Formats: sequence, structure tokens, C-alpha cells
Amino acid sequence: MDARRVGGRIAAARRALAAGGSLPVPVLRITNGLAMISLVLSSCDLLRLCSDSSRPLRFPLGGREFATVLCQLASVVYLLSLFGVPSGSGHPKAPAGGDEGGGSPHPARAAANAPEAMHAGVEGGDEEIVAAVVSGALPSHHLESRLGDCRRAARLRREALRRVSGRGVEGLPFDGMDYQAILGQCCEMPVGYVQVPVGVAGPLLLDGRQYHVPMATTEGCLVASVNRGCRAIAASGGAVSVLLRDAMSRAPVVKLPSAKRAAELKSFVEAAANFETLASVFKRSSRFGRLQGIHCALAGRNLYIRFTCSTGDAMGMNMVSKGVENVLGYLQNDFPDMDLISLSGNYCSDKKPTAVNWIEGRGKSVVCEATIKGGVVQSVLKTTVQKLVELNIIKNLTGSAVAGALGGFNAHASNIVTALFIATGQDPAQNVESSQCITMLEAVNDGDDLHISVTMPSIEVGTIGGGTCLASQASCLNLLGVRGPNGDSPGANAKLLATIVAGSVLAGELSLLGALAAGQLVNSHLKYNRSNKDVASAAS
Ligand code: ADP
Repeated sequence: MDARRVGGRIAAARRALAAGGSLPVPVLRITNGLAMISLVLSSCDLLRLCSDSSRPLRFPLGGREFATVLCQLASVVYLLSLFGVPSGSGHPKAPAGGDEGGGSPHPARAAANAPEAMHAGVEGGDEEIVAAVVSGALPSHHLESRLGDCRRAARLRREALRRVSGRGVEGLPFDGMDYQAILGQCCEMPVGYVQVPVGVAGPLLLDGRQYHVPMATTEGCLVASVNRGCRAIAASGGAVSVLLRDAMSRAPVVKLPSAKRAAELKSFVEAAANFETLASVFKRSSRFGRLQGIHCALAGRNLYIRFTCSTGDAMGMNMVSKGVENVLGYLQNDFPDMDLISLSGNYCSDKKPTAVNWIEGRGKSVVCEATIKGGVVQSVLKTTVQKLVELNIIKNLTGSAVAGALGGFNAHASNIVTALFIATGQDPAQNVESSQCITMLEAVNDGDDLHISVTMPSIEVGTIGGGTCLASQASCLNLLGVRGPNGDSPGANAKLLATIVAGSVLAGELSLLGALAAGQLVNSHLKYNRSNKDVASAAS
């Protein structure tokens, strides 16, 4: 066995000790305490034995002396081993922001807390590590935990990718990303990041305050269009929003022996008399998650239990899932024949266009309205109130009905939702339900002015958790004044962000409908989307 392999074994043994992380912290505390006590007691006993001239120490040792020396050695070896292990690894830190689940931290995050321990396990330089990844001897996803240096891990993975693929990712930026921050939170096996330009529309005058709206997009015309909508809204005195509901949902599916039994469980969880008990079980895992309702659907003997809860400033999927697990554990006592098929039974519904979200809502339900003066419709939108109202009926309402839309009664809500989601670190996949929107236009004030509203039942946003922690996304949240948790009124930041999303959609709807009514759409897209530069590079 060569020296390097021996070194590797020792390093592995140290890592195994470091994985004292695998022992629960309370148990570690007890073993550490016992070792200290054993060391002190055995030392005292040894001192006493050595100083007792009537009973000198002789070999072979007697039973008691042998036990004392053994305790001494064992506790010394145990305590020395602790010095070889960085303290962070034996005592996992709570993740930043404090995980409320009471569970162990994400393994990758725990690994990140013990960089030195992991560094000790690395053999050889960069070249050997890349070669190991290329040959498959070292799985790429182990790089972070083996190196204890996320940036180096990403750099070596990138080089290995270049060699394996024969192409690499030359143009993909590498510097400028905090690879430590994304570990265990945002992205696995990173090799760089994609640049998406961020434009700013506004100010959006909403509920008496001005917001500069950051939009991450590669669709030319979009920011300009929303900007124009904001101008029309501001020139008419601003928009007003109302948050109708704040309720993230999770719907596990459970199977019972019979449909009759499934119906019994449905009655039990939906009974008003049981709500308080279930709500108190639900909130055990969170300071912020509060159960708001339970609504079930049955398919034969399968029961889909849709839990809804408020989640403070977090988007809330983790929070609601933990609460649901608590309640399912509790229900198992009264319904031992209940078989959990999946914590998510798709009746939630996350990232799928569904009627349940459209009707019941998911996340924040918001309605936002404005009355645009006739003169502003003329001067800013270059069209008339009548034309806009008719266009909305024929396109957004009738056209979408003809298409069989599910919450798609709008012109382009998803454009604005997605751009804002990417800029502010939301989960872009949730634009599916977050973009469900019905846009209503009416002529008011004797037909002189335009009343416009957007009603969006499922805006799923948070200002803490997920991608909101990353520097660039956090700075966009900061621009809107909703960065992080709201200390004074938990949940206020996320609610405000949801209203800003709706207000921005209102601006986007107004502007695109205006462009369509005025027959400007193609012209403006040609102006902003098809620059000579684009055409030249596309042709080359
Ligand atoms: P999600 O449930 O959206 O996935 P996470 O669980 O990732 O969110 O993040 C929420 C974490 O932030 C929780 O651990 C929670 O304790 C913490 N937190 C701190 N302040 C707040 C707040 N005001 N609202 C919600 N969560 C908060």
C-alpha cells in the first residue's frame, strides 16, 4: 500500500470522525461529556494510586488499576480525535435563516461547514482531480464535499466537462458567482451561470408608492412595453391593489382500503370541530406556517387532501410540506389503514396549469385595478377606450374561451411574471400558475375613461428562501424594498411583492393591448427585437 493510499485511508478515517455529523448533536454532547468525566476521574485515581506508597503500581496490573488505565487511554484517544476534527463538523450549524424543520441540515451544506475536514481528503492537485472526474473514479457531484471549496469544485468540474464533452462551455461566465451560496440551496453541480439582462420599467405608481420594476428577459420590447404601461398608469393617478388571500397549498394523496373509508377520512379532516387540533399539529414545525384550510377530493379509495397555509415571507413549499407531514403522522393514529402514496398528489397543484389553482388560488391571490384617463389612452397608448374594450372582449375573453384556456384570459401576463420572477430569485417554473390571470376592460365615466383590472389568484412569491438569497436577485428585491424577511410584520414583504407583480402585469396588459389596438405590435417588435446587429449575427 503506497503512502498516498495510506494518507487517503487516514483522511477517510478523519472524515468518518468528522461525520460525527452523522451522530445527532445531543448524543455527541453526551459522549464528549462522558469522555471528559472519564479523563478527570481516571487521572485522579491514577494520581492517588501512584502516591499510595502502601500499594505501589506493579505489572501485571490488577483489575482496578487496569480499568483506570484503560479509561484514561480511551478518553485521551477520544478527546485527541476531536482535536483532529474541525469543530464545525461535529456540531453542525443551523443553516442560514434557521431551518425550522428541526431536521439535520442539507448534507451538502453541512459539508460546506467543514471545509478543512474535507480538504484533508483531497489527494493530488487539480490535474489529478480532473482526471479522476473524467475517468469516473470521482463522481462529479462529490467535488464540493471532497474539496471543501465550492469555487474550485466548479472550476474543476468545468474543466472535466470540457474534456469529456469535447466542447466545453467557453462563453459561459464563471467569475462573479458565489458558488458557496448556491450549495445545498439553488443548484447542484454548477459550472458557471447564464447571463440574463435586467431592465427596469417604471416607476410603477401602485397604492400611492413608486416602484422601479426589475425585469430579467431576453425578449426585446418587453421592458419598453411595461414601461409605457407604467407611464399610462402614473399619468392617470396610479393603480390600486388588493390581496385577497395568502395560502400556499400542498395536497398529499393517501390510499385507504375502501372508498367508504376514504370518505370517512375526508369527513374527519374537513370537520370544523377538528380544525384547531390539526392546525396546532401543523404549526409544530414552523414559526410562520399557519394552517388556513383543508379541502379534499376523492378518486375511488384515493383521497387528495389539499392543505392551505400562510407562510410568512417565504414562498412556502418547504414550510407547508413539513406541516403536512406533521398532520399525516397525527392522522395515522386514528386511521392506521391510511397508506401515504405521495406527499404531493398533484391536487396542490405545483407548476401545472390546473383548475383548482385557478378557482381556489395558490400563494397570493391579488386583484389590481386602475382607471386610465381617455386622454392618456390617446396620448400614451395611441388608441381609444372603445377599441381597447372591444379588443379585450374578442381577444382575451372570447379568444381564450375558444382556445379552451385555463386561467389564460390575458394578453401576456406570463411575460411580466417570468421576467420579474427571474430578476427577484423566484422559482421561474411557478410562472405556470402564477401567470393565471383574467384581464377585464370597461369603459367608465360615460365612456370617456378606461377601467382595467387584472385578477391573479395564484402568485407564488417569497422574499426569503430559494434563489432570493443570491446577491443579484437580492439586489433586485432590495430595489423594490422587499428584500428578506419583514421583521415587523412577517409576510408583509412577500405580500407586497405579489401586489407589485400584479401591478406590473396590469402595466404590461395595458401596453400590449394598446399596441395591438393601434396596429403597432409588429412595428415595435421589429424595432426592438430585430436590430441590424441581430440579423447580421443570425445570418453569419
Ligand atoms: P420555502 O418554504 O419557501 O421553501 P424555506 O423553507 O427555504 O422557504 O425558507 C424559509 C426559511 O426562512 C424558514 O426556515 C423560516 O424559518 C425562515 N424565515 C425567517 N423569517 C421568515 C419570515 N418572515 N417568513 C418566512 N420565513 C422566514
